[in-house]
Amino acid sequence: MTLRTASARTRGALFFALSLASPLASPLAAQSPTPRGPKIFISVDMEGLAGVVNNSDVSASGPDYQMFRTIMAGETNAAIAGAFLAGATEVVVRDGHGSKNNLRPTDVDPRATLLRGVSTGPKNMMEGIDSTFAAVVYIGYHARAGTPNAILEHTSTGNVLDVSINGVSLPEGGYNALVAGLYGVPVVFVAGDRAVVTQIRDLLGPIGAVAVKDERNDASLGLSPTRAVEQIRLGVAQAIRSRSSAKRYAMPSPYTMLLKVKTERPLYPGAQRVRDGEFSFTSNNLLDVLSAFNAMK
Ligand SMILES: [Zn+2]
Repeated sequence: MTLRTASARTRGALFFALSLASPLASPLAAQSPTPRGPKIFISVDMEGLAGVVNNSDVSASGPDYQMFRTIMAGETNAAIAGAFLAGATEVVVRDGHGSKNNLRPTDVDPRATLLRGVSTGPKNMMEGIDSTFAAVVYIGYHARAGTPNAILEHTSTGNVLDVSINGVSLPEGGYNALVAGLYGVPVVFVAGDRAVVTQIRDLLGPIGAVAVKDERNDASLGLSPTRAVEQIRLGVAQAIRSRSSAKRYAMPSPYTMLLKVKTERPLYPGAQRVRDGEFSFTSNNLLDVLSAFNAMK
């Protein structure tokens, strides 16, 4: 029987039962509250994973891509394990590399949920972040375009020479931290090469970190993936436990972006062309600034 076919008398009885149920439910709920731990957001890139040194390692057509997908899942799962070790009760993983479908869903620790695929809008590698999260963890991150002694350094696309906001030149982990900061969420941990660890700590302060590799004249000297996951698991757990000392990253608005590119794209509405290959855009809304960045990068 559905409500549609119920007689007026049955509907009345049902209403009575529902109104009885509701005052009974709340005292029971108050007696047994479910303890909730922190909710953690993990943004995962590929260039900063243990062992990655060439672009082909992180391109779907590359001969070793399948192996590096497995390494990506290993470092991601280490971060998930670290989060639960530190008392997290919910973890969301954002696949942040390229077409955002690098992590095989079956490889990811089932305690976490996975956000995969390209999303519309400006959040990109931070799609899914909101104020319900307690902390952000970066895995597989890399330094910004132009960083010396870094492995596969770039900023978003190969076309970007530099992007700065309010005079601060930012890596992906810098503007992603600003996005998290909009929702009051601090970044507490970064794994990647030594150069990104130094760069992110210079911006955000002494957050937890594991440098999985060092650059040696464009080559990579690094940890075994097995050793990297052990350090990431323990490092993430420690960073989440001490999250109260991490500060959200924020800048005073308005936000003025200066973008330098190799090849110019069409001018985004509201943006100014400063000189050849150089554009500025100002807004009180950081997400509008990132939309302009995404359109012109
Ligand atoms: Zn990437």
